[in-house]
Amino acid sequence: MDFGDFLRRLTACRACSRLVEYRSSFPPGYWAKPVPPWGSGPIMVVGLAPAARGGNRTGRMFTGDRSSQNLFRALYEAGLASRPYSISRDDGVELHGVYITSAVKCAPPGNKPTAEEVKNCSRWLREEVEIVKPRVVVALGRVAWRALSEILGVREEFRHGAVVEKNGVYLVGAYHPSPRNINTGRTTVEELAEVFKLAKRLAGV
Ligand code: SF4
Repeated sequence: MDFGDFLRRLTACRACSRLVEYRSSFPPGYWAKPVPPWGSGPIMVVGLAPAARGGNRTGRMFTGDRSSQNLFRALYEAGLASRPYSISRDDGVELHGVYITSAVKCAPPGNKPTAEEVKNCSRWLREEVEIVKPRVVVALGRVAWRALSEILGVREEFRHGAVVEKNGVYLVGAYHPSPRNINTGRTTVEELAEVFKLAKRLAGV
């Protein structure tokens, strides 16, 4: 399957009317389309959804908001990114063996997609798993975990630090690096970096 063709079809998607309406309301200069994933390699990192002022502003997944900065500090610490930030599409950051995407590709109001929107978007996530063929998938949060469990055939519930192997693919659970999770101490950048170091070992990179 051709990744360019995948991106063309993805960025034209209008399956969720509420999210199409929301992204159409963004200010001029924002990325008012489904947000493209980026990177390549045996480790797939799957977030919840782009933020309106993050991925749907900059046009690149996990770029330009505070969750992105937390994620990239952890990736950098684990040796999976060339810089500890992700600011814009031309910030020069390189990923080392990592592909970054999310369960839902359009920003939802209040960062809360509906169950139907997650289901709609799982078609794209399923294609990504088929194209990328990851050895390790890191699910950032419960929504991403459940979407991936459906695709991979995993029955276990989400838990931070969970590792489940299914048909040669490891599914790893971690709390989402949202400002709320970091500020309340539910998790830390250092903890997430440890999860990524584990993912590297499982992926053999
Ligand atoms: Fe399409 Fe996913 Fe965006 Fe819904 S959230 S419109 S399925 S790309």
